Amino acid sequence: MDNDRPGELYIVSTPIGNLEDITFRAVRVLNEADIIAAEDTRVTRGLLSRYGIPTPMISYHAHNAQEKAPLLISRMKEGQSVALVSDAGTPLLSDPGEVLVRSAADAGIAVRPVPGPSALLSGLVVSGLDAGRFIFHGFLPRKESDCKREIRELSRFSGTLVFYESPRRVDKTIALLAEVLGDRPVVLARELTKVFESVKRGTLFTFRDKGTGEPEKGEWVLLVGGCGGQTFDEEKPEASGILKALEGIDISPTDRARLLSRLSGISRRDAYLLSSSGNIP
Ligand code: SAM
Repeated sequence: MDNDRPGELYIVSTPIGNLEDITFRAVRVLNEADIIAAEDTRVTRGLLSRYGIPTPMISYHAHNAQEKAPLLISRMKEGQSVALVSDAGTPLLSDPGEVLVRSAADAGIAVRPVPGPSALLSGLVVSGLDAGRFIFHGFLPRKESDCKREIRELSRFSGTLVFYESPRRVDKTIALLAEVLGDRPVVLARELTKVFESVKRGTLFTFRDKGTGEPEKGEWVLLVGGCGGQTFDEEKPEASGILKALEGIDISPTDRARLLSRLSGISRRDAYLLSSSGNIP
């Protein structure tokens, strides 16, 4: 290779929709690598033929990583260079690659990033939410109880929460986020960089109650404002002020917490903690 020594592992980002979103360096590295390790060789073939790249591919995905990583490591030890790509975006971001990167690092092989598109960063920078402080969570678990537990773990973070989601589960995920976090600003970024790209801003309660207004297909990034962060609506009234106003009203602790959560936008759990102990740990 021109500037980079052989026998190295390149983590190459590829387009998330628009095939023009590839860097000059990515094209060069893919051209000059000895092998491209691709998540799905059929998907990557389209990209390679668009850019006239003849490099041979081998498949490297979540189910064969343990078996393929040693083979690729031995090729790199022999002096060959390997470029890892996934179906779209940046490998390792909710995509295969961890086993290979770790094995390469353990074997003393240099691992080089070739940066480029990711749905995470593309969604974040158009969201209007805090882009300097965020947690990327990728996909939430399918099982409802696990999903709620993981959302709860994120609930005290004041920066932006970023999730990937499949079109069939978006409504369900919004409902669970609303249930655990209360009402918060949310941005739904769909089909980024593609012809039907759409970015919708609103709140969890609004999208939960009225739906997303989008077809049940395409690829989605969900971005949720942090606790106590900015809102797209008017400012929510202070929870402690509302709690004071509810004093003396004869309702059960559960109803008080429910009402507090509704009126202030804080989560049910926080509303319960605030109304029972006077503060949120
Ligand atoms: N590694 C990729 C990256 O860097 O973004 C992500 C791979 S992950 C398996 C695929 C998920 O990323 C999709 O289900 C969707 O949530 C999100 N995604 C990928 N492309 C997208 C796009 N063009 N617009 C919105 N979300 C996208």
